[in-house]
Amino acid sequence: MNRAVDVLIVGAGPAGLALAARLAGAGAGRVEVLEREREAGGVPRHCDHGGFGWPPRPWLRGPRYARQAVRAAVGAGASVRTGVTATGWAGPLSLETTSPAGLERITARAVVLATGARERPRSARLVPGSRPAGVLTTGELQQSVHLYGQPVGRRAVVVGAEPVARHAVRTLRRAGAEVVAMVTGHSRGAAPPGVALLTSTSVTELHGRGRLSGVSVRHGDGRSGVLACDTVVFTGDWVPDHELARRGGIGLDPGTRGPCVDASFRTSSPGVFAVGNALRGVESAATAAAEGAAAAVGVLAHLSGAPWPEPGPPLVVRAPLVWVAPNRVTGLAERPLLLRSGEPLTSPVVTVDQDGRLLWRRRFPGRVSPSRSLRLRPGWTARVDPAGGPVTIALG
Ligand SMILES: Cc1cc2nc3c(=O)[nH]c(=O)nc-3n(C[C@H](O)[C@H](O)[C@H](O)COP(=O)(O)OP(=O)(O)OC[C@H]3O[C@@H](n4cnc5c(N)ncnc54)[C@H](O)[C@@H]3O)c2cc1C
Repeated sequence: MNRAVDVLIVGAGPAGLALAARLAGAGAGRVEVLEREREAGGVPRHCDHGGFGWPPRPWLRGPRYARQAVRAAVGAGASVRTGVTATGWAGPLSLETTSPAGLERITARAVVLATGARERPRSARLVPGSRPAGVLTTGELQQSVHLYGQPVGRRAVVVGAEPVARHAVRTLRRAGAEVVAMVTGHSRGAAPPGVALLTSTSVTELHGRGRLSGVSVRHGDGRSGVLACDTVVFTGDWVPDHELARRGGIGLDPGTRGPCVDASFRTSSPGVFAVGNALRGVESAATAAAEGAAAAVGVLAHLSGAPWPEPGPPLVVRAPLVWVAPNRVTGLAERPLLLRSGEPLTSPVVTVDQDGRLLWRRRFPGRVSPSRSLRLRPGWTARVDPAGGPVTIALG
């Protein structure tokens, strides 16, 4: 079946739903959101803890936040269709979808990728060993506990020490498991009280037939050992869900591994936008939703015939920075850029230059962590030469 809509949004998480609400409320025509899960709402649906909204509200739990976002989008007039997966492209602004009702081809005047991010599973982390049950990512853990009420094991190891890893610890404890250790390759980290934190340590092998029986670890000083456990949760190490972008030939950024976008969330492909964690991995739901809402300006401009800009100079980062988003210097530079360091640093200086010309320099007070983004105000983007070379951001 072939159908046409004005805006087609792939992904009904906080980013896609906030954009749908904004666009439908602004009279953008037929706004349709596709969600492959049986229910809309994205990751917050299975985050049964408080801390959602902005500022984070301890009493606002993920499932309720998700329901509010769905209500806002539907209430504004968007159509939110669940159980529908976008599988590929039939043309530059035409997507193929599959659902229990069959296959469809939907053509739009603007397409928005709001597909979120996923954690790299054990296989992609190349951890050797057997293939027992009890090996999960945080997403799989949260879904089995909060959505399906399935039991987890009794003794667990959590790989990672980012905020998401601490959520994994809480979920495991609520499900009745003891968390014997958190293991991180970084030299610092924070563990909840009662959990051993093994820093500068990596998981080198999984053991067990049928069910996991333990994980081998190697410490930075060369010592090694085995932690007995029946569950291991690999956390963090997010990869944007960029499958559709890749299939559509949309330019990806090597740092974020998500679609390259400018400050108006425009990708390299005219009429295609990308928002939320699909751009760069996990930020808060409020950040993803704010990006979705902000993208409405660019989508509306496109619908009313505004030209798609030339890509402009790329934004690149120098180590220890690992990514910056957005990664192009065109569009409405009103929101801060997000920057991520690969190493912990204290009070670093950030510099931005282009073709040897210093555009901006500032010291960031306090600690910089690999699990938290820095926010860079966009004022300096006005000084970028649009015909010049790459703009480089460095941290030292
Ligand atoms: C364990 C954990 C705890 C968290 N705790 C907090 C917290 O306390 N507070 C907070 O603010 N944030 C929290 N977050 C972060 C927050 O959940 C995310 O930042 C937010 O959900 C990102 O929104 P999104 O719309 O970009 O992506 P998602 O929420 O991931 O939504 C993307 C949606 O796209 C759908 N999709 C993907 N591909 C397709 C396709 N091809 N076809 C159809 N549908 C598709 C997916 O099924 C998904 O529903 C937490 C995250 C995790 C993992």
